[in-house]
Amino acid sequence: MSLHDNYFRVQERIANAAQSAGRRAEEITLIAVTKKFPAALMREAYALGMRDFGENYVQEFEGKHPELSDLATDSRFHLIGHLQSNKARKAADIFHVIQTVDSVKLAQRLDSMGAKLEVMIEVKLSEEDSKEGASPDQVPKIIEALRAAQNLTLTGLMTMPPWNDNPEITRPYFRRLAALAREHGFAKLSMGMSHDLEAAIEEGSTHVRVGTALFGKRPKPAV
Ligand SMILES: *Cc1c(COP(=O)(O)O)cnc(C)c1O
Repeated sequence: MSLHDNYFRVQERIANAAQSAGRRAEEITLIAVTKKFPAALMREAYALGMRDFGENYVQEFEGKHPELSDLATDSRFHLIGHLQSNKARKAADIFHVIQTVDSVKLAQRLDSMGAKLEVMIEVKLSEEDSKEGASPDQVPKIIEALRAAQNLTLTGLMTMPPWNDNPEITRPYFRRLAALAREHGFAKLSMGMSHDLEAAIEEGSTHVRVGTALFGKRPKPAV
């Protein structure tokens, strides 16, 4: 299958899920997740009409970014992987949206970089140790820090549930994130991936992050 066909299929899935949830497809932004793929593929995706790109690693995207700077004028680059404080400066330079703010310290450090950024709070809704993100009880403090920030605009919440190939297992996580967003009056919800975007959209997602369904299996790094 070509990228063109995959893109068409994903858009169709988004439209169908929106319709079955009584929502408009335009409410949902497709973020093309391009980690481990080269800049040339991002360019191809751009040529097909994709404008939102998700990357997990600051260092990896730093390498691709020089080849893509002309796309930045009308694309949005989202950081969707964990951000270490010591990479905040670089991240603020190359991303438009940081979806993974998960501590007061990181919020303050990002703000001090001076770049105008959109940010989301990554929430961890399970006890699974390996997942980054703020626990729900830490969220109010982070909101407070972000609302006090000079340069950051907080727009919503993001989550990455523990992996399960059955979307009905991840659905309760989506529902909990949506409830938390409602409680705090957020418009944006970044949740749902290749295999569970329908469930996420039914639960209110506004930003689905899709890699595999667009680009196929990610290349394994050379060893
Ligand atoms: C890799 C990744 C995705 C995309 O996953 P696919 O299953 O390939 O669609 C989405 N969100 C995050 C945070 C990721 O790391």
